[in-house]
Amino acid sequence: MDLVIVGSLAYDSLETPAGTSENELGGSGSYGGFSAAFHARLDGKPEIGIIGVVGEDFLDEHLEWYRKSGLDIQGIEVQPGKTFKWIGSYQGKMDQAVTHDTQLNVFESFSPVVPELYNSPKVLVCANLHPDLQASVLNQAKARRVSILDSMNLWINIARKSLEDVIKRVDILILNDEEVRMLTADDNLIRASQTLLSMKDGGILVVKKGENGVIAFHPGGIISIPSYPTINQVDPTGCGDSFAGAMAQKLATGEGEISVHELMESLVSATVTASFTIESFGTDKIRNLQPHEYYERLKHYRVITKTF
Ligand code: AMP
Repeated sequence: MDLVIVGSLAYDSLETPAGTSENELGGSGSYGGFSAAFHARLDGKPEIGIIGVVGEDFLDEHLEWYRKSGLDIQGIEVQPGKTFKWIGSYQGKMDQAVTHDTQLNVFESFSPVVPELYNSPKVLVCANLHPDLQASVLNQAKARRVSILDSMNLWINIARKSLEDVIKRVDILILNDEEVRMLTADDNLIRASQTLLSMKDGGILVVKKGENGVIAFHPGGIISIPSYPTINQVDPTGCGDSFAGAMAQKLATGEGEISVHELMESLVSATVTASFTIESFGTDKIRNLQPHEYYERLKHYRVITKTF
């Protein structure tokens, strides 16, 4: 496998200024998977495995969506009970998700088993999930090139020690700016990022700043790029996961040490890809993204930012 992603597979109920949507297929694994699969299809080599758990209520149609996008689903377990459910909303400029309810359901007793085929992927992504589950996957699988981890405010609040342990074990940590400030109790984002990097003994830190773009810390330098300017903002759920999925698939096509230039190119792809996710409720847009739409936006982004 080139890429293995462990993450949540969820049914989301969402409210945004653009409307509401019930029981949308979501979860960090779904968004990350569809985004990575899009790039793998562009690269002509979809070799992506998904690890996660769903309940008996999970629709066959949704398993089919994973399969059709080119994802290998032998790492998805179906367990008695209900699929993980997240109820969330966004207000105003939609820069902050408000969690109304998190129903762990089958995740409560989930103990991930990494299929043999998945235990040495080139890139391993621990998408947002309880840090103990991320640790369990890191115990069972070793990335040949790079391991990446994402998290969220909930785990900083209720599982901080586990999260601090697991972030030390990965090469690339992706968080948003508020999470970096929370973890370090420092409002100065650059100082907070440096503190976090010393907590994790170096490596790469990618800090997402929503509509303000992304700043990344690589041992060879700092990268700062803007977001893609979008007008059609419907539902930001999954933007962060789509970002991570695209970045991971880009890094799965390289070899050796990650250079500053390669990191920057992966961040450009991730930024442009994530800008599509916000344009629909759920995974519709990222799942059905067409190569010409992506390339057109990538070209425009490069003109705007002069990242040729
Ligand atoms: P993002 O908007 O990229 O941060 O991720 C949104 C996705 O995260 C939604 O589809 C949710 O199902 C999922 N999610 C929300 N809370 C959690 C949680 N506690 N653990 C795992 N996934 C979650």
